Amino acid sequence: MKIITSIFDLNKEIKNFKNVGFVPTMGGIHNGHISLIKASQKKNKKTIVSIFVNPTQFNKTSDFKKYPRDIEKDIISLKKLKVNYLFLPTTKDIYKFKARKFVLRKKDKILCAKFRKGHFEGVLNVMNRLMSIVKSKDLFMGEKDYQQLHLIRRFLSKKFNVRINSCPTIRTSDKIALSTRNKLLNKKSLEKASHIAKLLIKIKKRRTKLNSSKFKVDLSNYKKELEEKFNIKIDYLEFRDEKNLKLNNLKNKFRLFVAYSIDKIRLIDNF
Ligand code: AMP
Repeated sequence: MKIITSIFDLNKEIKNFKNVGFVPTMGGIHNGHISLIKASQKKNKKTIVSIFVNPTQFNKTSDFKKYPRDIEKDIISLKKLKVNYLFLPTTKDIYKFKARKFVLRKKDKILCAKFRKGHFEGVLNVMNRLMSIVKSKDLFMGEKDYQQLHLIRRFLSKKFNVRINSCPTIRTSDKIALSTRNKLLNKKSLEKASHIAKLLIKIKKRRTKLNSSKFKVDLSNYKKELEEKFNIKIDYLEFRDEKNLKLNNLKNKFRLFVAYSIDKIRLIDNF
């Protein structure tokens, strides 16, 4: 595996490659990331993984500072997977050139866009930069961050003429969605997160089974119940259309979206 730390070196290295899959990450490599890497390796001759903890997508500096980082361990995992290139850019390099700024429309300001001001503008900004550097036509992203996937499809797939491969959420055996942020949770919080995930899977199943106009799941009641039972703060708990993220109309395929804070750590998931 070649470790590349500058845009200049990356350009030199990948100039003549066509068949390259790209897996952008913020590190803390876990099985969720690994599933994306394997999907890329199946389809492409070469795979580039980037690790860049992007400061502009954190709305609190404290959150950026405490984001778990373990580059040595990540390098060992990626080498084992036979990743061809690990791109480790510096913030200075990524932000040294001028690039388009993205503004979300009113209709995009839902779910995390409503609760984390500036977050997706930061994500789109860095993804625009990374994609213009890496120039891959095959991008691999996780459904765990469903709204991110949706916005990148909307804003960037045409611009870069890139295929966006969405990969299902990988969970632990007790149903917690893998996430680098889970490293910040203690045992008790992890147990709570597992209970919450199991309950939400049940709610989704119930709604899917009884998907008729007669049946309504009152999510505001569930929200209150969960907040009290687990001592958590829920930002949102909503059924939304899988395709356009509009509030679900009971006809199309839908997902249950949740964001909550537990011990001051914010977790997101969808089922
Ligand atoms: P992150 O390092 O958290 O920014 O994630 C990098 C990529 O991995 C994003 O496309 C995420 O959606 C994806 N990802 C993160 N966690 C999971 C998971 N549990 N299952 C599948 N993909 C994931």
